[in-house]
Amino acid sequence: MTQIKTTLNPSTRFDSIDWDNLAFGKYFSDHVYIADYIDGKWQTGEIVPYAKMEMDPALCTLHYGQTIFEGLKAFKNVNGGANIFRPDMNARRLNHSARTLCIPEYDENLFIEAIKALVETDKKFIPQHKGQSLYIRPLVYGSGNFLGVHTSDTYRLIIMSSPVASYYAEGLAPLKILVSHEWVRTAHGGLGTAKTAANYAASLFAGRRAKELGFSQVLWLESTSMDYIDEVGAMNIMFVIDGELITPPLSQGTLLAGVTRDTVLKLAQEMGLKTSERQIKISEVFAAHKAGKLQEVFGTGTAAVISPVGLLSWKGEEITINNNEIGELAHKFFDTITATQHGETEDTHKWNVHLNF
Ligand SMILES: *Cc1c(COP(=O)(O)O)cnc(C)c1O
Repeated sequence: MTQIKTTLNPSTRFDSIDWDNLAFGKYFSDHVYIADYIDGKWQTGEIVPYAKMEMDPALCTLHYGQTIFEGLKAFKNVNGGANIFRPDMNARRLNHSARTLCIPEYDENLFIEAIKALVETDKKFIPQHKGQSLYIRPLVYGSGNFLGVHTSDTYRLIIMSSPVASYYAEGLAPLKILVSHEWVRTAHGGLGTAKTAANYAASLFAGRRAKELGFSQVLWLESTSMDYIDEVGAMNIMFVIDGELITPPLSQGTLLAGVTRDTVLKLAQEMGLKTSERQIKISEVFAAHKAGKLQEVFGTGTAAVISPVGLLSWKGEEITINNNEIGELAHKFFDTITATQHGETEDTHKWNVHLNF
């Protein structure tokens, strides 16, 4: 393991955590990894105590949003130590987002080593129960202070972590989803393939409207056709129609390359399921439902792993999927992925980066 300079926190937040009500992103561990890009190169990063940061009112990221992030998890391994799930995928995607936002790339091995060291330093914050995890949130932002619209000369990488609950306290309750036919999160030539703040800012208004109308999230349509499906909330989306697993292709250019999406596709292929990465229209989904062929709909993402969709509402028409119950395949993917993450089953794909302690 690369030695990373570490300054231990003289105090701890551990005792202030309500471990039975972790929620998501509410508590933070004692340390962060910080690296700065100055004079045209990334300086040596360090692990330091979690602390407030000073900020200049002219911080360019506040004004123009030159910032990207990632999200991944570390899990308690049933036979000791911890597992970080597929961090290589996040390292690669961070650099894709970096290129999209004109941010200098970060060494992918160093990124993974920094995450390993941070998780080890804060290992007491990895929750004990199945489904719970230590959520790891890397972010990179332009750290220059100026008001002109241009890229920053300096950047900061921060990796922080947060003990989080199993996403669904009440089990895998299906979501009620509003298909957005008025608002879009991204467009062709936009930032949709990057994990960047702008896409989430663009989603807030529609998300709030959906909640006001009694839905939990929005299904996003591709902006030119307003028919092809992009994603659901901040998750990728999958459909099971007539025994075939269908998900929109990354080549659509308007969706994020989810790690969970990739994981589910690989598992589905191994199970012998027919899988298609192809464009799919909301009109096709509604027609499949009418024909009695729409079996399952679910979202995929690190936070929830699998989120079944129980109801879709599109232009006032509502369809209920699988009796508003989690489908067989969704359940199977959820069980298989979470068992692997906790080391309960053999990690045949070498998806876990295991830490011994
Ligand atoms: C993070 C994210 C996903 C899911 O990606 P995972 O790597 O599976 O967590 C999907 N869509 C959007 C918009 C996202 O931000």
